[in-house]
Amino acid sequence: MKELVIQNVFKDYKLANKEKFNALNDVNISFEKGELVSIVGESGSGKSTLMNLIGGLDSDYRGLISIGGKDLKSFKNKQLDDYRKKKIGFVFQSFNLISHLSVLENVTIPLTLSNIKESEKNKKAINLLTKLGLKDQIKKKPTQLSGGQKQRVAIARALINDPDIILADEPTGALDSTTTLQILDLLKDIADSGKLVIMVTHSERVAKISSRIVEISDGKIINDVVNQNYKRNTNSNNNLIDTNEKAKKDGHLSFFSSLKLSILNMWASKTKNFLMALGVSISLISMILMLSFGAGLTGYISTLAEDYSSPNYVTISKSDKDKDGNKIEESSSNPFIPKMFEENEILEIVDELNNTLSSNNNDFLINYQKENDNLTLGFSMMTMFSGTISYNTQDSKNESSIVYTYTTPPYYNENNFITKTGHISEENEIMLSYAALKLLNIEDPELAIGETVNLKINMNVFDTNITINKDVKISAIVDTSLFSNMLIMYVDYDFLNNCVKESQINEGISPTGLKPSLLFIKTDGKETTDLLNNYIKNYRKDLSGSIEEQLASMFSEMMSTFSIAMAIISGISLFVALIMITVVLYMSVSERTKEIGVLKSIGARKKDIHLIFSTESLLIGILSGLTGIIFSLILGGILSVILNSVLGFAPINMLWYYFIGALLISVTISVLAGLYPSSKAAKLDPVDALRHE
Ligand code: ADP
Ligand code: MG
Repeated sequence: MKELVIQNVFKDYKLANKEKFNALNDVNISFEKGELVSIVGESGSGKSTLMNLIGGLDSDYRGLISIGGKDLKSFKNKQLDDYRKKKIGFVFQSFNLISHLSVLENVTIPLTLSNIKESEKNKKAINLLTKLGLKDQIKKKPTQLSGGQKQRVAIARALINDPDIILADEPTGALDSTTTLQILDLLKDIADSGKLVIMVTHSERVAKISSRIVEISDGKIINDVVNQNYKRNTNSNNNLIDTNEKAKKDGHLSFFSSLKLSILNMWASKTKNFLMALGVSISLISMILMLSFGAGLTGYISTLAEDYSSPNYVTISKSDKDKDGNKIEESSSNPFIPKMFEENEILEIVDELNNTLSSNNNDFLINYQKENDNLTLGFSMMTMFSGTISYNTQDSKNESSIVYTYTTPPYYNENNFITKTGHISEENEIMLSYAALKLLNIEDPELAIGETVNLKINMNVFDTNITINKDVKISAIVDTSLFSNMLIMYVDYDFLNNCVKESQINEGISPTGLKPSLLFIKTDGKETTDLLNNYIKNYRKDLSGSIEEQLASMFSEMMSTFSIAMAIISGISLFVALIMITVVLYMSVSERTKEIGVLKSIGARKKDIHLIFSTESLLIGILSGLTGIIFSLILGGILSVILNSVLGFAPINMLWYYFIGALLISVTISVLAGLYPSSKAAKLDPVDALRHE
């Protein structure tokens, strides 16, 4: 029985306009093992077409091709892949080695596709390469080899699976005459070892050396001559492959091998891949940093809100809403002056709260303007451009502007916010924050206490400007983490009120004084405090809590806006990243079309190609994720240092699950981005892919 039988084979190529081109026209021929066949014919006569049919790269033909008695047509996809992998070895004119793999890796690729153990396949390949005189080249890349060496590597790759048939399409077409002879010798050795070698050639000299010459013209065999002078060398040591080594395994490309192939390929274009990872990581970095900043701020604010409240006090101010919670359009021209309470408003609030208390069976009563009163008035305002404190010593004059003027909340003493040796300011006294103290050039707070400074505030009270200009004593320094770095002056409400009245009289205005903007109610404990706070929160939207609480709620409002903005920005940038990865992978598929063709010709299944490209997109995802994480950590660290030196605190809280999340997101989008390019690669037609230049 003949090894390869071809009967009545026709091949038509479909052309664009439903026309057909007849490339093979009733081909009838058969071959035996041990033959070294030269196929000759003019360019375009159908030689490659015939080789592709025999090699199982193209199944679209009519007629019979049978190998070892089996009809090729009856093979399912899987069997056809197996056939290419184990029965056939391809050798091409342009070598078609994979440039980013070493000589050894190129030769072991067919074994890798069968999931043969690393040590076993290397041993086998090194044996073979040694016999082909390439022992010293195994670590080189194909570009570092001469043409003859490259073709011997390609032949080694074709031989490694011990195929029965070697198909060589113009194997010496790109070689000089000396090298051509060496390669021919090698092919002859292979044929003499009992394999069927079919090669396409243009060279008459080459053809003459073979055992049989078949001539094709216009898709027909017009000549078939056996070379009577051909001497078969039957020396047994011609065996290049140790066939008895191990039965051919039935494995497939493993994820691990695919990972290795992908890493090698990515390493070959590392700059491109690193830049892409950097591009993708930018969206991850911004996401991680924004989340960390959000978490840092939220955490910071919530500890502040805790620090600055007292379980024994309810603080009330006016909010920017009406009772129903709708925002009031600001009519006041001066945003620095807070909303003030009229006397009747205070009475009304006290009444309402007392009713609430009694209806909740709480015995506590708010007493206002009674003997044992437990409601203190307060005031706070921005004095950003109008308040200064000057401190004159014998040889220097130091000035600090005051950004905020605040009547001391009564619980500040209780919270230990005030330096121990000092006392809460009273008549003709003020307290200062650390930052304000520093500007006065007094480093030690102990030395500041009792010092006289000049206080000057221009303020607008009920639409008239007045100026307070007074010498006052520093009674204490207020040390709070929230306000220490701000320029703040704390004064007694009554004292501030008297100063205002005095200035009004000096300027000939009726002495109205200030009205309070803060109400502090001292309760009998936490339970009452919570009850009142909850009532105000739910039923009096026109009121809000302390400055600190307002700050906290303002921040949380900002944070939620910020989160939405962040989500949108991250979403867009991740989408951009997704498109970017898709484009890069898609380009990589077209760049590697030939490689895909080669892989298919040596038996890679669709699944294997898919796996290789999917693995690569997975790696890009991991690489981008890690790049993002590393840069986030670096940038977060730098940002923390900067914020710490500017603000005195760094509201950056990097939670471990942001990093896991970023990695997952990046892997997910990369894998998604890889879906289309991978399946495109898997679907490439091997013949087209091999023709690709
Ligand atoms: P050879 O290898 O003998 O030079 P080929 O087998 O490559 O020739 O091609 C035989 C003929 O078939 C040529 O005329 C070529 O143009 C045509 N042909 C090859 N591949 C295709 C294809 N994919 N589509 C259409 N025509 C093709
Ligand atoms: Mg050809």
